[in-house]
Amino acid sequence: MSLSTYATVPPTVESGLRIRAENLHRTHGRGRDAVHALRGVDVTFAAGTFTAVMGPSGSGKSTLLQCVAGMDRQTSGTVHWGPTDITALPERRLAQLRRSEAGFIFQAYNLMPAMTVEQNVALPARLAGRRVDWGGVTESLAQVGLADRRRERPGRLSGGQQQRVAVARALFGRPRILFADEPTGALDRSTSREVLWLLRERVDVEGRTCVMVTHDPVAASYADRVVVLADGVLVDDLVRPSAAQIAEKLSGLAC
Ligand code: ADP
Ligand code: MG
Repeated sequence: MSLSTYATVPPTVESGLRIRAENLHRTHGRGRDAVHALRGVDVTFAAGTFTAVMGPSGSGKSTLLQCVAGMDRQTSGTVHWGPTDITALPERRLAQLRRSEAGFIFQAYNLMPAMTVEQNVALPARLAGRRVDWGGVTESLAQVGLADRRRERPGRLSGGQQQRVAVARALFGRPRILFADEPTGALDRSTSREVLWLLRERVDVEGRTCVMVTHDPVAASYADRVVVLADGVLVDDLVRPSAAQIAEKLSGLAC
């Protein structure tokens, strides 16, 4: 695809994927040492919406994200992406689906220091065995305002810029779902805002579905909805809450 057609693909309401988790359990270990990270979670993330997952440390946020993202296998329960039950897929098929439908952003940027910025953005596609569309790589970097830095090594960029490269890497390939685990956890307030706007924009302009774990009420206030976990179960579900309302809800949970 040429740069110009890539940039003018019209947004469609169907471009996101609905995610549905049903009666999700995830237990680590066995017997007396068993840790019940998820204890029966039912949640739907509607297509084209931005949801923040919150809760105290150890409440199961990362486990929920990893299970709904198909990176960790639940102990029981199901996860659907659109019509597809991803929990019924063999590992290879699941890995293929993950590569084509999902983009991932973590607190640690996980960039390869010896590669250039553009090589980092292209890496997941190369690992998936796809031919790299370098115009698309530049376009992804342009979306995060870093096209002019594409030939540099990540070490020359600030932390916020490195996280924007990680966002460009997640956006490259136009996945219908974005999963983020504490994407602003290592950033200062103004760079956090930049990254959160990028996620917000991808949902609003392109209708992608975004699920983001955060412990920061200000970050969560960029979402359409906030679900709150405590001890492996969902305890609250807030629609477009303000940062102050979120902070008040969480104060009772010792976050
Ligand atoms: P959060 O992201 O909300 O801080 P996690 O989902 O990381 O919480 O962890 C939920 C619970 O599961 C915690 O008690 C944690 O110690 C436990 N846990 C997570 N991963 C593992 C693992 N691989 N082995 C054993 N226990 C784990
Ligand atoms: Mg976590």
